[in-house]
Amino acid sequence: MNQPKNKILEAHHLTMRFGGVTALDSLDMHVNEGEVLGLLGPNGSGKTTFFNVITGLYRATSGNVTFRGKDLTDASAQDVYKEAITRTFQRSRLSLPLTVFDNIAIGDNRRLNTSLLFNLFQRNQFKKEYDRIVEQVNQLLLTFNPKLAGKIFEPVASLPMIDRRRIEICRALISEPNLLLLDEPSAGMTHDETVEVMDDILQVRSKIKPFTIILIEHEMGLIQRMTERCIVLNYGKKIAEGTYDEIVNNSEVQVAYLGQE
Ligand code: ADP
Ligand code: MG
Repeated sequence: MNQPKNKILEAHHLTMRFGGVTALDSLDMHVNEGEVLGLLGPNGSGKTTFFNVITGLYRATSGNVTFRGKDLTDASAQDVYKEAITRTFQRSRLSLPLTVFDNIAIGDNRRLNTSLLFNLFQRNQFKKEYDRIVEQVNQLLLTFNPKLAGKIFEPVASLPMIDRRRIEICRALISEPNLLLLDEPSAGMTHDETVEVMDDILQVRSKIKPFTIILIEHEMGLIQRMTERCIVLNYGKKIAEGTYDEIVNNSEVQVAYLGQE
């Protein structure tokens, strides 16, 4: 028998306008705890804007967002981060000269003590804190992709695209998210590489905790493989919702995609 599902994230009438452009148009949606939800739609349909609004980068023009029942509509990016909602970006945001460790540890700013006094005067404490973080990043890498753990102190610039994407994802995972937002993780990679990275994510998820995922992705093979349910946007409006099979056979979805090609 199906258990009733808990909604972890809900948006009601969520609207985001940029001047004359309505990027999100009275969007109603929810994500169930523990599910992998696909967010689809042609270019410019509002997918990234949705992530930007729920992570506090943009303030919604109207409507509201709740996470575990808490209102996050006007929350700052830092408030959202405190709820353990983390994301990756469509365009890479790694610092190439820095090491794998540095790039991942940056993701843990909820717990990192970065005050000058702490760093200058509590050297022993600082060393302990540093060692703890190294251990934490190392453990994550060992779970995520043991080969990458061997390269923890190498500069990101020396690594191939697939490892760079893994590092971006580990940066989002290091703070142990409740909700992980992935914005087109396949960008710049082959289909096989993307499948490898997605399998790494599912593996971490099964070993650490069953965090919820919203996946924005164009590659339909990936959507089919990863998601339990999908929402399709067009011009900021939800035009379809259902399983992969349901949405690919939906005539409004087909027209929206054909209109783009
Ligand atoms: P998607 O991720 O689905 O490709 P976006 O969310 O990036 O689409 O964009 C949706 C619409 O909002 C587009 O028309 C885009 O040009 C517009 N848009 C997104 N961000 C901004 C912004 N910061 N300023 C102005 N317009 C924006
Ligand atoms: Mg986008």
